[in-house]
Amino acid sequence: MSISLSIIYLIATIAFILGLKKLGHPATAKNGNLIAASGMALAIAATIFIHDLQIPISIYILIGLALLTGSAIGGWMAVKVKMTKMPELVSLFNGFGGASAALIGLVEFSKNVGDKMQATTIVSGIIIGAITFSGSLIAWGKLNGSIKSVVTIPRYNTINNIFILAIIAFAVFTVSTGASDQAIIFGLLGAGLIYGILFVLPIGGADMPVVISLLNSLTGIAAAITGILYSNMVMLVGGILVGSAGIILTIAMCKGMNRTLGAVIFGAFGGTDSAAGTDKRLGSIKKTNPSDAAIMMNYANSVIIVPGYGLAVAQAQHVIHELEELLTEKGVDVKYAIHPVAGRMPGHMNVLLAESNVDYSLLVEMEDINSHFKNTDVVLVVGANDVVNPAAHNDPSSPIYGMPILNAENAKHIIVNKRTMNAGYAGIENELFYNSKTVMLFGDAKDALTSLVSELKNM
Ligand code: NDP
Repeated sequence: MSISLSIIYLIATIAFILGLKKLGHPATAKNGNLIAASGMALAIAATIFIHDLQIPISIYILIGLALLTGSAIGGWMAVKVKMTKMPELVSLFNGFGGASAALIGLVEFSKNVGDKMQATTIVSGIIIGAITFSGSLIAWGKLNGSIKSVVTIPRYNTINNIFILAIIAFAVFTVSTGASDQAIIFGLLGAGLIYGILFVLPIGGADMPVVISLLNSLTGIAAAITGILYSNMVMLVGGILVGSAGIILTIAMCKGMNRTLGAVIFGAFGGTDSAAGTDKRLGSIKKTNPSDAAIMMNYANSVIIVPGYGLAVAQAQHVIHELEELLTEKGVDVKYAIHPVAGRMPGHMNVLLAESNVDYSLLVEMEDINSHFKNTDVVLVVGANDVVNPAAHNDPSSPIYGMPILNAENAKHIIVNKRTMNAGYAGIENELFYNSKTVMLFGDAKDALTSLVSELKNM
């Protein structure tokens, strides 16, 4: 490799690391993304123009066409996507990353027969890439609601685990015997694809974020393996960064959902897709209106806002900021309580509120704010449901039992804004809505908050 190419790859690698670091805070995240993307553009350009690829001009034209088409489709998808649909897009992108690794493996397999090290890399890339591809497509379908099934076959996980062990054993056999038959490699590809489907299919309810994060990490591992195959440092480092960042995020999400990583990989996933309705055993609910809710908040000393998925769907981030500023002007102490899995992607609420210029110091993480609820006059829950569901503490049979939640139930008064009594993502009933301290402010978050703001302005 030429010196100039090595230097460019080094610059690209530094850009990835710097970009990833800057992604750690909402204020610098946008720049971080741009820096990492520039590093990637630099690495691609250098590979095409400086690397001595020894390929005919027609292949350069094909690469150019593929780059243009991919960039146009990716750019269009990224511009069009709504904030609430981001996890679906991330899932798709994960899947494409996995597919690329698997396809590269297929192409390279016949060229590297006999070299055990190369064969190991190729076979691993094919299997991991195939699992990531089909698993991500299932995750995408589950997130957009087109795939609903939760598999309930007895011993499902045992069968699944035996299947993956069989794939690994077959892969070891292929490499150690130096088998070169294309049928074998297509067999491994097919088995990987099937396992990806079986792996993600049983997941319903609240465990999805962990799986998306895990698949993201697998994409990184697949890319790193391809980097080893081509002795390409920038690909290797990029892959390792995605893989390790994904694993760290997966562990953080596991903590957020109270699952161990082992249970996620080898154990049963929880959750159901069943919808909740009004539950007579929980008692009755009390309705309120914007005027009464505004009075309650106007006379409060402290208000904690709990934003959730519904806030994002309603695009109510600007009006909630207006409400918070109005209350602060009136001398009320206002904070936002941020649950790690509120919304539909990690950090969703931080990103959303940053978009409307909410001061970061007002966003308080779950561990820090939970002890403050009991001294808080009013909690305003906006489009959040699972993240404030006391069943996580009280009901061992609940799919979210053990998941850390925001202790909104401890506040002196609770106002819950949502449109109906429908369930949240985990598909379960929420006893908080039936609490004697709770009043329900029904309506779309943007409309309800706009009414609250205008009521408060008149006080
Ligand atoms: P939930 O999905 O539990 O609840 C959202 C609530 O918002 C619903 O009950 C819905 O009730 C209400 N809502 C929907 N649209 C509107 C609207 N326009 N105006 C007002 N309310 C509305 O959200 P949470 O944020 O509490 O919890 C997140 C859930 O998503 C968790 O279960 C989490 O595990 C899961 N998840 C999280 C991911 C992450 O990484 N953050 C990724 C994937 C899943 P109604 O229909 O009655 O209005």
